Amino acid sequence: MIQPAVGDVDTYPMDDSQSVPWLLGTHLHPEVGPISRADAGSRVLMIEAHDFARRKFYHHDKLTIIFSGMRHLRDELRDRGYEVIYIKSDSFGAGLKQYFAEYPDDELVLMRSPSYKSSTRFRELVEKADGNLRVVPNELFISTRKAFDEWANDSETDTFRHENFYRWMRRESGVLMEPDGTPTGDEWNYDDENQEFPPDDWEAPSVIDLEHDSLTEETSAWVSDEFDTWGDDSTLVWPVTRKQAVQKLRHFIDERLPDFGPYQDAMRTDEWAMSHALLGSAINMGLLHPWEVITEIEDAYHSSDDIELNSAEGVIRQMLGWREFMRHVYRHAMPDLADANQLDAHNELPSLYWSADTKMNCLKQTVEGVDQRGYSHHIQRLMVLANFATLWGVEPSELNEWFNATYVDAYHWVTTPNVIEMGQYGEGVFATKPYVASANYIDKMSDYCGDCA
Ligand SMILES: Cc1cc2nc3c(=O)[nH]c(=O)nc-3n(C[C@H](O)[C@H](O)[C@H](O)COP(=O)(O)OP(=O)(O)OC[C@H]3O[C@@H](n4cnc5c(N)ncnc54)[C@H](O)[C@@H]3O)c2cc1C
Repeated sequence: MIQPAVGDVDTYPMDDSQSVPWLLGTHLHPEVGPISRADAGSRVLMIEAHDFARRKFYHHDKLTIIFSGMRHLRDELRDRGYEVIYIKSDSFGAGLKQYFAEYPDDELVLMRSPSYKSSTRFRELVEKADGNLRVVPNELFISTRKAFDEWANDSETDTFRHENFYRWMRRESGVLMEPDGTPTGDEWNYDDENQEFPPDDWEAPSVIDLEHDSLTEETSAWVSDEFDTWGDDSTLVWPVTRKQAVQKLRHFIDERLPDFGPYQDAMRTDEWAMSHALLGSAINMGLLHPWEVITEIEDAYHSSDDIELNSAEGVIRQMLGWREFMRHVYRHAMPDLADANQLDAHNELPSLYWSADTKMNCLKQTVEGVDQRGYSHHIQRLMVLANFATLWGVEPSELNEWFNATYVDAYHWVTTPNVIEMGQYGEGVFATKPYVASANYIDKMSDYCGDCA
């Protein structure tokens, strides 16, 4: 069982045969949460609801990985002896009615989804279906809500400053810490060693070529037929099973992590992935627990001469710091954050975000990459897409919608603080200034500019 490492974890029984884990498409880790406490042979519910997929022009790959991920977990759990009730349905409401008509005395046990009010909505749907629901803490994060809230109440520092939060997380988790309580290498943060542009002869590390099975191929074709999707549907580079996700993690650590540090902020036309982890979708779907990712990275740093501290600390800062921070900020800043717009920006999102039809090469390259794979790396998201939208005066909630639909790793809890706050300075809840830069920055950190206007 893998659990949060910062904060006390609730114990709760799952030994009663009518306590049934309900797994969402973002709870795909069999060693986390209610499923990890339920014995083989127990009943498990999974509802593949299709109506949400019709609400937006989602990227084809985003829908494919969620549905294929669920179908693979269903089969894996059945192989292990669980009685998986897998309902394909228009909506969660209809799926729940179908379930409780057959098993009226069951109590579903669901990990709290991080997106705003989703537990309330699920509770209402279960009530309408005359069923019972127990919502338990979401253990797919490293820190518990309670631990953050207690620290925030007691702390004299500003807890909505990422650096304060990150140092607290390092101390509490012991990651990259020395026995005397100082950070490994004496510095907390090597951000200033993460901003180089690679020399011309630098070859980016390979991206692992995942082999997809017939279930994923069938799901991919079904998604193309069934839904109005956006983006290329011919290749899929994202994991849908835990085995593939672990393969991707190991490949990142062995091949890509050594160069992650220095070139984290760089953008090159021929290298869509640079040395980034490419793990966001797997972590956000629950195929990987962020704690297992961090402990493997820390172990590799201590055992390998190839991994420098600026690489290990750089990626650990993103996962132990930024990802956890965003989740807590979102909890505290919602619902206002979703519509925050302190710069009073009301322009529509330019159509180039969908078509890539523009002479601005940085935007063209980035949007074409998103179209192909539902991905671009952090600096393209922040300094190309969000930067231009802020300069153009785009309404932040519109850009948030676009990210939600088009990225394979996008969920409301993570896009909202990243897009509206970090990207567009919507509220000032943790950002202290808008991230806007001129073409000089893009020219320094990329090869996009050349003779581009
Ligand atoms: C405008 C904008 C939109 C974004 N949209 C998303 C999104 O939809 N989903 C998403 O998960 N992240 C989002 N991010 C954060 C970050 O850009 C992505 O997590 C990262 O690019 C994913 O690629 P990677 O797996 O190669 O990560 P790497 O850059 O290699 O980082 C490693 C991991 O750290 C975590 N991480 C890094 N930065 C952040 C962050 N700011 N917030 C949360 N987690 C972080 C992710 O789990 C990521 O997989 C966004 C950032 C910005 C500025």
